[in-house]
Amino acid sequence: MQFNKAEFAAAYGSFSQIPACSRMEIAFAGRSNVGKSTLINKIFNRKNLARVSAVPGKTATINFYQLEHVYFVDLPGYGYAKVAKSEKERWAGLIEGYLNSERDIRLIFLLIDMRHAPSADDLHMIDYLVEAELPFVVILTKADKLKKMARQARMEAFAQEIPYFSELTVIPFSSQTFEGVEQVRQIITELAEE
Ligand code: GDP
Repeated sequence: MQFNKAEFAAAYGSFSQIPACSRMEIAFAGRSNVGKSTLINKIFNRKNLARVSAVPGKTATINFYQLEHVYFVDLPGYGYAKVAKSEKERWAGLIEGYLNSERDIRLIFLLIDMRHAPSADDLHMIDYLVEAELPFVVILTKADKLKKMARQARMEAFAQEIPYFSELTVIPFSSQTFEGVEQVRQIITELAEE
């Protein structure tokens, strides 16, 4: 795939606005500030396909990007404390509405910050994906921020903290060193060829 040819398609603020599914979809999910926009821009080799910001919590819409016959779906970052309850509920409705739908969701990339234990929201998301039998891959972001020993310790901790960890595909990722970029592109390429 020519990853740099991806284009922004549309942004939706409520699930009911999203048109019927017309092509296969690959989604990206994770808590706010996990590095999701940065990762999307890295994968597609673009500066501003997804908007990166120093201020967490800004992605309050579901954004669709299009490349060939695939839609890439950027779900709103969850778990940002400094928003009103009503706004959190709207985000949860968007995410659950999307994941619950009958859409052709081939994979969800679930991003978790490699430096920290998964949040309650991350664990909730994993449980949900397992229960719903939705295929997902865990991406551990900001890998460059950990030195070797700390990284090893965190990986051992994840094995305890994340259910089914040994059975999951887990990709350490860094937008700084490019670790993981090709692995993610490879997964996408294989799905797109199915
Ligand atoms: P989002 O809210 O999940 O879309 O997160 P962003 O992509 O906006 O990133 C949040 C912050 O983390 C920004 O300051 C990014 O520059 C930083 N960041 C994202 N990915 C990485 C990474 O791989 N390494 C480092 N060191 N910082 C990162």
